[in-house]
Amino acid sequence: MSVTHHVPAAVHPTYEGPSFDTLRRQDPQIADILLGEAHRQSSTLQLIAAENFTSPAVLAALGSPLANKYAEGYPGARHHGGCELVDAAERIAVERATALFGAEHANVQPHSGSSAVLAAYAALLKPGDKVLAMGLAYGGHLTHGSPANFSGRWFDFVAYGVDAETGLIDYHQVRTLARHHRPKAIVCGSISYPRHPDYAAFREIADEVGAYLIADAAHPMGLIAGGAAPSPVPYADVVCATTHKVLRGPRGGMILCGSELAERIDRAVFPFTQGGAQMHSVAAKAVAFGEAATPAYTAYAHQVVANARVLAEGLEAEGFTVLTGGTDTHLIGADPAGLGVDGRTARGRLAAAGMVLDTCALPYGDGRGIRLGTAAVTTQGMGQREMARIAVLFTAALRSEGEQARELPAQVRELVGRFPPFAG
Ligand SMILES: *Cc1c(COP(=O)(O)O)cnc(C)c1O
Repeated sequence: MSVTHHVPAAVHPTYEGPSFDTLRRQDPQIADILLGEAHRQSSTLQLIAAENFTSPAVLAALGSPLANKYAEGYPGARHHGGCELVDAAERIAVERATALFGAEHANVQPHSGSSAVLAAYAALLKPGDKVLAMGLAYGGHLTHGSPANFSGRWFDFVAYGVDAETGLIDYHQVRTLARHHRPKAIVCGSISYPRHPDYAAFREIADEVGAYLIADAAHPMGLIAGGAAPSPVPYADVVCATTHKVLRGPRGGMILCGSELAERIDRAVFPFTQGGAQMHSVAAKAVAFGEAATPAYTAYAHQVVANARVLAEGLEAEGFTVLTGGTDTHLIGADPAGLGVDGRTARGRLAAAGMVLDTCALPYGDGRGIRLGTAAVTTQGMGQREMARIAVLFTAALRSEGEQARELPAQVRELVGRFPPFAG
């Protein structure tokens, strides 16, 4: 943020941004859905590990005239005219991202986390190449070799898992598989692993077999920005991430890498896998990176982890089996079998009480657990005391019936009502 960019023309001084009333008058059907969703988000507990509440500034950039602009290519080398202002926005986003994460190069154009991973593979691999990644049954993402995804169709994936007892990555197993299969790339990153990956161990294994190391840090990227989780940037050849989730920006993706891979990564994003960049989203990413560089965000990231620890302890005290015995991040995986239900039943009963979360794979057996995270509730301002209360509400939702169960949504509404996620 040390460089100031020349902004070639003044923004129209009367611009006031989108108005909800305009939408309500023109299209009440869709306006009602927006209103209903705002109500749902502010009257129930948002515990989906991948979700968060973006700031009004991020939303303002998203719902802006930048959404109208076509901008294929990169700043200074676009295929369209009139890109001077959006070029400045993208340069600012790139500078803020490289400064925030200490990376040599950033590409802020991927439309999503999956697009970022697709581009990373396109830059480094050829169809049919072997890739070692966490198996989907243990928390690997669709883009880590699912047969329903391009990754599983176009590459030859080998899966590592986690230890059935501890739930932790077994680096000895990763090394053995790498030595045996000699993959072209190793992917570290997961949708539900609540501990920090040992990036140095992954780097050592990748070096031993001559593989690229791709860190898919979509989940912890915000914690990394806030100094609440170790960074893969010094270890991985390429780091893929989402800008939503804990990072609290717009829905979208990003890629970080060293200068030597910069050109390959850029060409893999555009023109290989994407067309025009979504400049409203690129500008919103810049806003989010700016927010993530503040002391307030650092405090937020640490509070997210502190909250997750208290919630995990609370769930354990209530009879849940917490995967890996706790958490280092915003993520918690838990098996509710001790309360007499499986993950799917638990998710349904919690949803009926107004507590929204996902199920997850369990590293043992074939049942499912629940997966939740503290990014959104922490943005709302909830702290350790509220986490302890949520653990108690969980048990109540799984145990109570009849009149008692019917009272739960009101109790949840009372809790979230004290922490409104939207201004006004
Ligand atoms: C969320 C996530 C993605 C994909 O992000 P989308 O924006 O939904 O495409 C990829 N990898 C990991 C590990 C994720 O957690």
